[in-house]
Amino acid sequence: MKKRITAPREVLHELQQDYFICTKCKMCQGVHVQFCPESRFWRNCPSGSNFRWDAYYASGKMEIARGLHINEIEPSDSMRHILYTCMLCSSCQEQCYEVKQLHPTRIFELMREKAVREGWGPMPEHAQLVESLEKNDNPFGADKKKRGDWAKGLALKSLPKESAEVLFYAGDAYTSDPALKHAVRAAAQVLLEAGLDVGTLGADEISDGSLMLQLGDRDFFETFAFTNIETFNSLGVKTIVTPDTHAAWVFKEEYAAELDPGIKILHLSQLLSRLLKKGQLTPEKEVNIKAVYHDPCKLGRRFEIYNAPRRVLEAIPGLELLEFPRATFNSLCCGGGGGVRYAFPDYALSTAKERLFEAEWTGAEAIITSCPYCVQMFNQAVEATGSKIKVYDLAEVLLESLGKEV
Ligand code: SF4
Ligand code: SF4
Repeated sequence: MKKRITAPREVLHELQQDYFICTKCKMCQGVHVQFCPESRFWRNCPSGSNFRWDAYYASGKMEIARGLHINEIEPSDSMRHILYTCMLCSSCQEQCYEVKQLHPTRIFELMREKAVREGWGPMPEHAQLVESLEKNDNPFGADKKKRGDWAKGLALKSLPKESAEVLFYAGDAYTSDPALKHAVRAAAQVLLEAGLDVGTLGADEISDGSLMLQLGDRDFFETFAFTNIETFNSLGVKTIVTPDTHAAWVFKEEYAAELDPGIKILHLSQLLSRLLKKGQLTPEKEVNIKAVYHDPCKLGRRFEIYNAPRRVLEAIPGLELLEFPRATFNSLCCGGGGGVRYAFPDYALSTAKERLFEAEWTGAEAIITSCPYCVQMFNQAVEATGSKIKVYDLAEVLLESLGKEV
């Protein structure tokens, strides 16, 4: 049997207690209201808010899991629609775990793995992502030979030909989307400004596989994880840092147990916060803007990384940091979660527009976040609405405050 190299496979029935215990109390539909000053923003389940039927809230999907378990119901097209319109944003789990210690979002992830195993998931629209991964080692149709082009002209080392202390893993979105090129170059440039010994894999970097894991295709995810873990362990690096929030999620949750124990995994925001604290970065140029910080679901609720990006923004002179009514653990998904946008773009965009409305409600001139998928969704929403709000990646603003450009 092939050695398993990622986290142990958990199957749905191992969490059966959760879906049998769910009392349909529906607390998971909203936010922790005591931390949200405005009732307009109390609802927080994108799929439930959009489709309005109980089945689209966590309570409904828990009932579907129970019904499937006892063979009371069978998979259907509508069940697949319900499962694949969930953003896997963890807002329901944030609510439920606090009171009942249940894991609704984890249940929905495992339901997707069941759907793929049984052949009724993911959505047909997701096939093009799989095809691209097979052909290009990334899900977005980008030419794999050009994966390292974003870094041209930066003084990054070329791994594995050279050695470096830090591996900068750029990720699928940043290496595929020309609109994100400035942000990923800014991220690498800031690390160089701090004097770090940083390298990249260039065109040899491949997908982290996180999108496949979100869609429930654990087997395909593991082919990428297996290759990446072998590569990462062979490089002799001490730290892997990535600005890609979804890559950070799988590295921390799935890869970590098989990486050499000396390798630290950090999301870029964590490393930037540490570098500022140690005095290796000194932002001095004023960036005069009123900005609100958006917590990406896979960084915030998944790993409770709420403070690090805020410490970075607080260190920038001139920047006035505002908060969404739905902030930190109450954050609303940007619409980019769960691979939903590739099958249901209008619904994903409507979720991003709701978040953009909330940003405007705060009086912000800009949304700053630290996830490429959030940046993409907010840019789409700005374009669709004609909003004047600017969208920035964390490193772009920090680099500006260092008085540098890329
Ligand atoms: S998932 Fe939890 S919070 Fe939601 S209805 Fe069930 S028990 Fe209540
Ligand atoms: S994970 Fe998010 S979208 Fe899915 S049911 Fe929970 S709150 Fe709703």
